[in-house]
Formats: sequence, structure tokens, C-alpha cells
Amino acid sequence: MKYSVKKIICFATVVPVLFLSACSFVPQKYTSTDVGMGTIVSQTVYVKGDGKEVTRKVQDLVNRFEEEISWRIETSDVSGINHFAGKEAGYAISKELSDDLRKVWQISADSDGAFDVTIAPVVRLWNIDAKATGNEQSDLLPSDAEIKDKLSLTGYEDVRIEDNIVYLPAGYLIDLGAVGKGMACDRILSLLKDEMGSLSATRPISGQVSVHGAVISLGGNILTYGEKPDGSAWKVGVVDPMNPDAYLGMLTLTGTNFVTTSGDYERYVEIDGERYHHIIDPGTGYPADSGIRSVTILSDSGLVGDALSTACFVLGRDKALELAQEYGVEILLVTDTGELVMSDGMQSVFVEK
Ligand code: AMP
Ligand code: MG
Repeated sequence: MKYSVKKIICFATVVPVLFLSACSFVPQKYTSTDVGMGTIVSQTVYVKGDGKEVTRKVQDLVNRFEEEISWRIETSDVSGINHFAGKEAGYAISKELSDDLRKVWQISADSDGAFDVTIAPVVRLWNIDAKATGNEQSDLLPSDAEIKDKLSLTGYEDVRIEDNIVYLPAGYLIDLGAVGKGMACDRILSLLKDEMGSLSATRPISGQVSVHGAVISLGGNILTYGEKPDGSAWKVGVVDPMNPDAYLGMLTLTGTNFVTTSGDYERYVEIDGERYHHIIDPGTGYPADSGIRSVTILSDSGLVGDALSTACFVLGRDKALELAQEYGVEILLVTDTGELVMSDGMQSVFVEK
């Protein structure tokens, strides 16, 4: 035997070190579940480096963004805008948020007001969220007169956004509940791309992480990013609105996508056999009754997908298909008779169960 004891020790340490460093260049799967923006935040990331650092950064981003846009948080920008309603000075927000609000207002205009974040006074009057979660036990419904009264304090056209200053008329309120989670998904995508490397990146260099792929969901808003290490497609389930514990089918997707669903099963209360859900038709002030049970949008922007899913739910089948086409997004509608209506692009990625 030629090997000395010293050489054997060397060999025994070099092999595991080589093996370990090879392993660290294969993306590893890391999952986490937490809460944020009033919903469950679930993350599956495929990462070279520290997966926990990635999911923690994403969760921090969601928490920070909630502090910026939640109307429930006194110090948020949205609370600032609401407190300044009727004041001559208007309320100054960040450039990023004011740019997003301009897109939000454009979608209100393009949907003829079916999507309108100034519907908040009517949303609060109905208080479906609290009724659905059992925080409000009352079976009382608002009267026609109360609804009319609150409707007079709504209308996206009455709001001015000049540079980064928002001017809201007196008595008006905004609530970004219908678009905020989509906006958060856009920011998560930027974080994954810019701060943590992309597929083409040569990282990690010491101490850094690079994200190979991720699927992140904030309630009904799902972001897919990059690829799985084995190259297989992302599978995103579409909930059956008639039986929300089951899926209608699956979307098979590659790369970056935003999948957003709005449905009458998400938050509702049943009173005297009638379902009152959380999506309000700004034209009537009542829960939208457009013959739709759910809308799923596939888009390349979280903000657009989230806003359009709500808008299309209110608009009903024909106008929803038109708006989806106008914005170049794919759409899947479930009607109240259980019929599935899809754009061509959606048809090519959806497989019914
Ligand atoms: P989503 O689940 O994304 O469709 O958003 C529904 C939430 O947005 C509701 O819980 C309300 O807070 C708010 N909302 C309800 N109706 C509308 C509407 N027509 N336009 C904008 N926001 C709405
Ligand atoms: Mg929405």
C-alpha cells in the first residue's frame, strides 16, 4: 500500500468538500407559509444558496407593502389619502405608488367604472368581509337609501392624481383590496429578478443566492417565475366556484406568469337563502349579479391581472371577453350555469379535470 495516513486524510476531506460544493450549485427546493395582506402567503422557491433568506425577503416585502397600502393601517399611504379627502393640499405619495395608481385609474376608465377603488364607502357599508369571517354577527342588510347615499360618495372620475399628489373629494375613500395583492406580486417579481439573480446569472458568489424558479401565492393571486430544476412545467389549479374545495382543472405554465382569480365563493354571507358576496357593482351598489361565478386572468402583470379579474366579474361574459382582449390577457370565466368560457390562449394551457 503506497498511500500514507496523511494522504488518506487529505483524500477523505477533499471528496466531501467537492461533493458539497457541487450540491450547492444545484437549486434546492425551499417552502414557507405565512400570513400577509389578509391572506395566506405560500412560497415554493428553487434556490442556489440560502432558500430561507429568499422567502424571508419576500415575506418582508409583503409586510412592508401592506403597511404602505392597507386602509386598516393608520400610517399607510392609503390612510393618508383618505384622511386628506376634501383638503385643498392633496396627499403626496411615492412615485412608484402614484405610477401604479395611474394604471389603476386607467383600468377604471377602460372598464366603464366596473372596477373602481373609490367604491370603498359602499364596501364598508355592506361589510361582507366581517360578516364572512364571523367578526360581525349581524344579519342586517343595508337599505336602498343607505346604498344610494354611499354611492354618491364614489366615482374614480372625481379623483385627481397630479404627479405624486392625490386629491380625493370630501367623504370619498379608497380601498386597494381588489388590486393590492397583484401589485405586491409585481414587486415580488422585481425582487426575485433584480436582487437575487436570474436564470442567466452566474451567481451565487460567496454568500449570495440566486433564484432559479419560484411559485408564490397570495390568496387568489399566484406568481410563477423561472423554471423548476427538472425543467417540468408549473401547474396552477383553478378552483371550482361551485365546490371551492376542488379544482376545475389545471393550467400548465412555463416561465413568468400571473394567475389571478376573483370569485363569489371567496368571501360571502348567506341571508335568507340569498348569497351576498364581496364584489360590488359600482353601477348599482349591490353585489355584482352578472351571471359569473368566477374569473381567472392569466397576464404578465400582477396589477393588471388583479384589477381585470374584479372588473370582468362585474362586467359579465361578453364585456369581460372584450376587455380581456383589449388588454391582451387570457381569461377563463365560469358562468352561473357552470359553463366554462375561455380565450384561445387560455384554452391552450388549461386542462379540465
Ligand atoms: P378581488 O377579490 O380582487 O376581486 O377584490 C375584491 C375586493 O375589492 C372586495 O373585498 C372589496 O374590498 C373591493 N371591491 C369590491 N368591489 C369592487 C369593485 N367593483 N372595484 C374595485 N374594488 C372592489
Ligand atoms: Mg382583483
